[in-house]
Amino acid sequence: QRLDHLGKLLGYGSLAVCALVFVVGLLRAAEINLAVITNMFMVAISLAIAAVPEGLPAVVTISLAMGMREMVRRHALIRRLASVETLGSATVICSDKTGTLTQNAMTVTRLWAGDHLYEIGGSGYDASGDFSVDGKKIETEEHPALLNALWVGLLNNDAQLEAVMENEQVDSYRIIGDPTEASLLVAAAKAGAFSHELNEAYPRVNEIPFDSTRKRMVTLHAVLKPQADDISPVYDETRQKQYAIVVKGAPDVVLKLCNHYRAGSNQNETLGDDKRREILAVNDDLTRQALRVLGMAYRLVPELPQEITPELLENNLTFAGLAGMIDPARTEVKPALSRAIGAGIRTIMITGDFANTARAIAENIGLLRPGHQVKTGAELDNLDETQLQEAVKTTDVFARVSPEHKMRIVDALRSNGEIVAMTGDGVNDAPAIKRADIGVAMGITGTDVAKETADMVLTDDNYASIVSAIEQGRVIYSNIRKFVYYLLSCNMAEIMIIFIATLVTGISPLTAIQLLWLNLVTDGAPALALATEKGDPDIMQHPPRPPKEPIINRFMTVGIIVQTIAITGATLAAYFIGRSLGDEQLAQTMAFATLSISELLRAYTARSEYYPFVKIGMLTNRWMNLAVLSSVALILLVIYVPFLNPIFKTDALSLTHWSIVVPLLIVPSLAAEATKFVYTWLHRHDQEVVQAA
Ligand code: ADP
Ligand code: MG
Repeated sequence: QRLDHLGKLLGYGSLAVCALVFVVGLLRAAEINLAVITNMFMVAISLAIAAVPEGLPAVVTISLAMGMREMVRRHALIRRLASVETLGSATVICSDKTGTLTQNAMTVTRLWAGDHLYEIGGSGYDASGDFSVDGKKIETEEHPALLNALWVGLLNNDAQLEAVMENEQVDSYRIIGDPTEASLLVAAAKAGAFSHELNEAYPRVNEIPFDSTRKRMVTLHAVLKPQADDISPVYDETRQKQYAIVVKGAPDVVLKLCNHYRAGSNQNETLGDDKRREILAVNDDLTRQALRVLGMAYRLVPELPQEITPELLENNLTFAGLAGMIDPARTEVKPALSRAIGAGIRTIMITGDFANTARAIAENIGLLRPGHQVKTGAELDNLDETQLQEAVKTTDVFARVSPEHKMRIVDALRSNGEIVAMTGDGVNDAPAIKRADIGVAMGITGTDVAKETADMVLTDDNYASIVSAIEQGRVIYSNIRKFVYYLLSCNMAEIMIIFIATLVTGISPLTAIQLLWLNLVTDGAPALALATEKGDPDIMQHPPRPPKEPIINRFMTVGIIVQTIAITGATLAAYFIGRSLGDEQLAQTMAFATLSISELLRAYTARSEYYPFVKIGMLTNRWMNLAVLSSVALILLVIYVPFLNPIFKTDALSLTHWSIVVPLLIVPSLAAEATKFVYTWLHRHDQEVVQAA
């Protein structure tokens, strides 16, 4: 939108100046005849063509498109072209924890059932692992309450395992489905129990699917043919009962639905307040070890209720146990996080998990900064909008939140003036994704609804990909600035040259056809080559650009003025020296050579806004080398090919002429470098400020 506006302004502005040039040219002419009018009219029209940066929209689109391709390579799929620009100014990333900051390779390492806390060996999706209590290995068959908990985890499960064989033995598993659920299958497999066997005896007849607001799911099973070797220790009971209601979810939520628990004696005992407190204490303890904890419960019934509603199913349950699973942080997350911090971008963790688990992981990866807090969804409910706006400033972790909270968090951050990237995967996340400046959906675990609402989809669900997309967004934005700067300063200079010379002499220092040729060789290729720049090395060491800052900021305005003066000065000098040496045609050729080649050389210094030309690897942009070489060749062509001379009104320049032209044509580049130098010198303290922050 900003470029569009700028383009219109430039368009009308240049047209006005061109009209002015036409009028001034006529006023200054010795006599007015048709030839003079035609000539001046042609110059004015050519100037208009040269002055309007018609290449701009094309180059912008191409650079955004190339940027998108680069982002896809880095696992970020951009769904809206304009988001590329927004990405570059992001100030806060709100990231899901599970799977985005962590690997989502869950492994059940602790299981509490029947008054025992079991430890389970093996890492990831290993097929084998021992069960032990207090460091002593146990036989699972002797622990019916443990088997009972595994039984619940197997039935209430939508994931599947696929065996990975090694030497004709099952070595590990590949999982299909939610890793949280798959980890329960793996844990059961370690005790020799598999869901495909159980599902024959207890086929699922109905369900209330998992819902992150309810934080639990319910499955209903018919009891068909419980066998004696069935791992379910409820075998005796199931003989008389026809159906099983099985629930798993957040422990505190599940516990509230229970009035019994399965004791180590393999009997159902009444769940007293002491026992509840004990179970919650175990839960607390496990979460503090960065474990994700699920609670499991069930009830056997002679018949199913008329309707499948939570009210009718979720009561009088028997608590079966707690499963604690570890989910290691992704290895890329730590470095990505410090890159984000260096770039002045905050990261906030948002999770449905327990505060303790979230805190432990956040501390581990360095996300929770000293003095900052962890807040829960319940605490958010007690805050009004203004209090929340205050709270988000110092809260790095939001735990136990539901998707509606995400929306409030986005709103609070945005009213603080932040540019927010928000991740999500579920259907319920869609409103928050939509509300964020940059909605980010998970490519692997995300639902279609989330993906369709998002501006960006992460093909690897990885937090680090958000950071590299932001980096790429910054690169693209700075490239856009580079060629806007380049094109505008060239065009401004062209207008000034013609305007001043026409004012002084009444003749244009460049013929119409020279202007068109100049426009052809300088506007397209070098500007496109600028769009392929990789970005300054310190692009992630600056704070985000202020979102309201116009493309042409103060620094660029100064740059454009300096360039206009330098190019105009150099070209007019060449022109007037040329006039003193020979005829008008020679003077025009020298002006043409100076202007066009100086613009091409300048493209090299425009490769970085702040870094000196010698520091950016002078010839490292091969598109630039190609663009400039071929453009210089095209200019020499019209100067030296004899039959083109009359067409382009050019003279073959001699060595003497070049000895004047060459020093002049490097002036604009030197001026550009000097501008950068002065700017960096004036802002030499800014960097320290960023680092201190
Ligand atoms: P997160 O995955 O970030 O923890 P969710 O909103 O997906 O957040 O889940 C909310 C809570 O629901 C989890 O903390 C967990 O206690 C519980 N939960 C997650 N997945 C399942 C599942 N497949 N079955 C039952 N409960 C689950
Ligand atoms: Mg989840």
